[in-house]
Amino acid sequence: MPRIAVPAGISTKVFILDDDALPQIPALLAEMWPGKSAWIVADGNTWRVAGERVQKILKEAGVPCCEPCILPAVPKPHPDYTLACQLAEKMPADAVPLAVGSGVINDLVKTAADIRKTTYCCIPTAPSVDGYTSKGSAMSVGGSKKTVPCPAPAAVVADKTVLLTAPPEMAAAGYGDLAAKIVAGADWIIADALKQDPVRPEIWDIVQKDLRTWLADPTDLKAVFMGLAATGYAMQLHNDSRPASGAEHLFSHVWEMEHLEHNGEEVSHGFKVSVGSVISLRLMQFFLETSPEEARRLAAPPISVEERQREIAELLKRGCYGEDPARLSMEKFQAGDAAFARREAIYAVWGDLQKKVARQLGDQEAFVGSLKAAGCPTTPEEIGLDRAQFIHGIYTAQLIRKRYNILELLYDAGLLKTAVEKMF
Ligand SMILES: [Zn+2]
Repeated sequence: MPRIAVPAGISTKVFILDDDALPQIPALLAEMWPGKSAWIVADGNTWRVAGERVQKILKEAGVPCCEPCILPAVPKPHPDYTLACQLAEKMPADAVPLAVGSGVINDLVKTAADIRKTTYCCIPTAPSVDGYTSKGSAMSVGGSKKTVPCPAPAAVVADKTVLLTAPPEMAAAGYGDLAAKIVAGADWIIADALKQDPVRPEIWDIVQKDLRTWLADPTDLKAVFMGLAATGYAMQLHNDSRPASGAEHLFSHVWEMEHLEHNGEEVSHGFKVSVGSVISLRLMQFFLETSPEEARRLAAPPISVEERQREIAELLKRGCYGEDPARLSMEKFQAGDAAFARREAIYAVWGDLQKKVARQLGDQEAFVGSLKAAGCPTTPEEIGLDRAQFIHGIYTAQLIRKRYNILELLYDAGLLKTAVEKMF
């Protein structure tokens, strides 16, 4: 069985990635869930591309199968917590759930399995996100997007023939989410240099060591899926998404909370992250092209607590960003002497940090070129953002989390506005 080694200490115990992996499921179930029957959860599409075949393979191997749960394909299933609870209720006792689908089906089953305190097996149908192998699920709870804590799948069986049936835009989205690890890595380097969030080499390596190899050919879905899976393991081990996500994900979260649509369709996570990655790259390029002397000269004077509160209220006035940003952004805000001290700390590492960030980014225009070649959007217009919403998203992304990144560096240095203006 071509199993791919999984790091020790995570919930995922088995990872199979093969050209024809589905026939290996009966042996896997006998080994990991002996005596249990199988319960497939899919939607109309994923049942057609893989679920039906899995059921047939299981029956032929003599594995008892419960009546599968096939959600409607249209409208697409939503990652809604109520739906996950309904699945948990439907889940037959003493059966192992098999999530056959893309990110949403996986997140629904991940949540439902945790509610029933059982483990599950993930059978991805598209290399579209890094969330298959991460813990936690992105759920809409009472109308607002939350990460619901729940363990990652105990086993993942990725079949290349199945992955190849995914719509090209889903494969492109996965490539975008994986390519984002280049700028996300640069953000972690920035946080490390400013003593905000030290890089853990053993976790860094899981994502970054082979990243360029996985990204070399966007049509190599096995390589892209390997990368996405490894990223999920790193997040499991780190107990947080830092190894996989920097400012580019924060832009994406802002647009998600704004329910960004393009041509009447919700923009995929990977596509938002792809455009977010290009913004991160442009901001990092501003940092790389600015000397510490210029940085001092261009720095805007620090503002007062009251001025900052007014700015934040204006940025958040749409009211769709939840309760946290107003509080979090003031907690990290520094005025007066503290703001000047932070600037000195930034200037002290500036030159050295420029070298490290440049090394991590590698050939910067090739990065944008590879996103384009993979079919990912790289400009705001391609995902339906007008200029005002685009610029607003950049400033708002800096408010929503405490995760030090290029936005924080430029904000603290009094340069964020200049850097954004330079983008146009
Ligand atoms: Zn992502």
